[in-house]
Amino acid sequence: MTPGLRKAASIVARSLAPGKPHHAQWLVTRKCNYQCRGCNVWKEQDQKELSADEIKKGFDILKELGIVELVLSGGDPLLRDDIGEIIDYATKLFVTTVYDNGSLAGQKIDVLRKADFVAISIDSLDEAKHDYLKNVPGAWKSGTQAVEILHKEGVKVSVTPTISQKNLYEIVDITNYFTGKGIPVWYCLYAYDTSLDSKQLFKIGKANDELVITDKEAMVNLCNSLIEMKKENKKILMTDKLLEALRSIYLEDKRTWKCQALNQFLVIDHLGRVAGCHSHNFAGSIFDLPQKWNSKEFKNLRETYHNCTQCNYLCYVFYSLHGSPSGHLSLARDQWKNAGLLFK
Ligand code: SF4
Ligand code: SF4
Repeated sequence: MTPGLRKAASIVARSLAPGKPHHAQWLVTRKCNYQCRGCNVWKEQDQKELSADEIKKGFDILKELGIVELVLSGGDPLLRDDIGEIIDYATKLFVTTVYDNGSLAGQKIDVLRKADFVAISIDSLDEAKHDYLKNVPGAWKSGTQAVEILHKEGVKVSVTPTISQKNLYEIVDITNYFTGKGIPVWYCLYAYDTSLDSKQLFKIGKANDELVITDKEAMVNLCNSLIEMKKENKKILMTDKLLEALRSIYLEDKRTWKCQALNQFLVIDHLGRVAGCHSHNFAGSIFDLPQKWNSKEFKNLRETYHNCTQCNYLCYVFYSLHGSPSGHLSLARDQWKNAGLLFK
């Protein structure tokens, strides 16, 4: 059996196994070279982080736990010198996506070629606005160039604008611009820390009034537009279910899902600490898993998270909405279609 077929078979088995988490996000570094206006990571960097060998050991544990999809993010994960080794190991086990702020991806093509997906953050088609949001001159140029180069090189790159009040009215244009070039678009939604707990796993920062979405009607219209556009445009990666859930929040202040943190997904920080999501306190170390997964403590936490309504981070909403073995399988199937990589 080829390594690709082995990976595909293992992913199907894990996707179908009931009672297992599907998705993990590993924030492999707290170092960042950007200074985004909606984020404090660059103000509170940490030079400490796990070694590549420790992370690889953690990946084996995640696989045993049943994880199918892995996101490697940060800070900027590409700032790690050993990121190639980490990506290489991850992609053998998981459907792996690497996030970059657009600064380094264009220079690290060979490293990124191994990932199943690469996501680059582009928040505007307007160069000055994007540079303002990232708070770094030249950010737009390097981000858009990275997207073009990776796409040309056959790397499965997508663009991930963070929707905020600052770019709300141009999300449709951004979507059309990139998908028109054959580049898929996924979105993040501007959010900020609501927790005051000092043990919060990974702090992002306080609300920035410029970015908080105040025009709810425009947000509802955007959801409607994307749902319509998706009928023709297969490069819009959001599901209808997710867009409908988002619309409900802005239309009627209603959450149509229950959070599945520490159930369908979990987050690991740069020190290997684990929580259901980055907004909550860490509840142990990756090296305590998988044993701790079925502990009373984790069961209690799951219940707390299940009733939590603190955030609308889109990836958490997504995995809360699509968390069932059939949902897992359809996600995995979509990814095979998109990536065409697993059978290589
Ligand atoms: S949003 Fe990302 S790229 Fe921007 S400062 Fe924060 S961690 Fe860095
Ligand atoms: S709703 Fe879920 S993902 Fe968001 S803060 Fe609460 S537990 Fe975390």
